[in-house]
Amino acid sequence: MNKYSIFSLARNALSHHENWQKAWRSPEPKKAYDAIIVGGGGHGLATAYYLASEHGMRNIAVLEKGWIGGGNTGRNTTIVRSNYLWDESANLYEKSMKLWEGLSQELNYNVMFSQRGVYNLGHTLQDLRDIQRRVNANRLNGIDGEFVTTEQIAERIPFINTSPDSRYPILGASFQPRGGTARHDAVAWGFARAADSLGVDIIQNCEVIGIRRDGAQVTGVETSRGYIETPKIGVVVAGSTSVIAEMAELRMPIESHPLQAFVSEPIKPILDTVVMSNAVHGYVSQSDKGDLVIGAGIDGYNGYGQRGGFQTIEHTMSAIMELFPVFSRVRMNRQWGGIVDVCPDACPIIGTTPIKGLYFNCGWGTGGFKATPGSGWVFAHTVANDAPHELNAAFSLERFITGALIDEHGAAGVAH
Ligand SMILES: Cc1cc2nc3c(=O)[nH]c(=O)nc-3n(C[C@H](O)[C@H](O)[C@H](O)COP(=O)(O)OP(=O)(O)OC[C@H]3O[C@@H](n4cnc5c(N)ncnc54)[C@H](O)[C@@H]3O)c2cc1C
Repeated sequence: MNKYSIFSLARNALSHHENWQKAWRSPEPKKAYDAIIVGGGGHGLATAYYLASEHGMRNIAVLEKGWIGGGNTGRNTTIVRSNYLWDESANLYEKSMKLWEGLSQELNYNVMFSQRGVYNLGHTLQDLRDIQRRVNANRLNGIDGEFVTTEQIAERIPFINTSPDSRYPILGASFQPRGGTARHDAVAWGFARAADSLGVDIIQNCEVIGIRRDGAQVTGVETSRGYIETPKIGVVVAGSTSVIAEMAELRMPIESHPLQAFVSEPIKPILDTVVMSNAVHGYVSQSDKGDLVIGAGIDGYNGYGQRGGFQTIEHTMSAIMELFPVFSRVRMNRQWGGIVDVCPDACPIIGTTPIKGLYFNCGWGTGGFKATPGSGWVFAHTVANDAPHELNAAFSLERFITGALIDEHGAAGVAH
């Protein structure tokens, strides 16, 4: 820290947070834009940033019904990894991983990407076969991964319960060293600031309530702040996908489910990696602040309420205590839920639709945070060129007609 930043810190400390420079503008919506992105989560903001930076589209806007990052982007447990099974998803998530690795520099904003490694535990013989298959497939795709034994797990992760007498004994795990976590709010803020500096209008408190068309071509959006004309609409609204699709008389193969997360009181550093288990159905990491950040599986009903049921809380807590009995003395501080958009094959839809100028990016379900930069990058290409990039071509809406599904239930597993 140089003397100027020390002075600036002292000045701001004494100024009661007045006159701070705004990180992005709050413009009034224009009458027309070259493209509109609906949804100011990480994916929408990343799309707008790459539309401006990679495709030179500057007369664009992001419309957000609440505040940016207030959806799943600000509610997730921040796990990043790219060890998916099939080539299509492995390539897409690995593109994202590579972008993560340079993101703080690219945006000039610290997104606190921490490559502390991710373990996916196996508890049955079948789990181990699947894990080994996935590690091999990952390596063939140039993605880092290794199979680790119970003894290695006991050595590397203090306090984890590797007793053979537990209900689901740990028999091994996959480990992706380049996986880890990032600061979710910072991702939204970093993309927002960078997009704004390229001229993108980020308009909060602006809900899209209708889509206008002329025949099979979109012409604009009705919003809570008036009508805005545009020939291109990119929809990135996660759990609200079906609501927007209905405005365009489309039916998406999406179910909206609540997904919960929890944080404990802050404790001293105890866990320096991410541990996930599909069988006991929970996962945990520790934030830089010291909280244990705990994730669950989806609540098994459809809905739009950002909360969830007590049975999931109880189930997840017992799963985590089975893995780390020592955590039974830690108090939980907070619980919350987001609404995730789940596709039948646990893979996203990123592409064009039968309506010209209307594009959807959705279906990330429980695991889209890790894809934020990659998703924005390929979706920007799709919106700019009216055609998918080769990395997202397989993730089309048509796959539900042709049957070319990409089943990632194994790699998606418990919510993450
Ligand atoms: C509890 C929880 C834990 C998770 N953990 C992980 C994890 O560890 N790792 C991982 O990879 N993924 C995780 N996920 C999934 C991840 O959070 C999402 O896939 C990802 O953040 C989706 O980003 P998004 O930008 O598409 O959606 P969002 O961040 O939800 O953004 C969509 C935005 O659209 C806005 N919107 C909706 N309707 C309208 C409208 N009509 N007009 C204007 N705006 C509208 C919403 O207000 C919202 O801000 C988790 C999700 C949850 C809920």
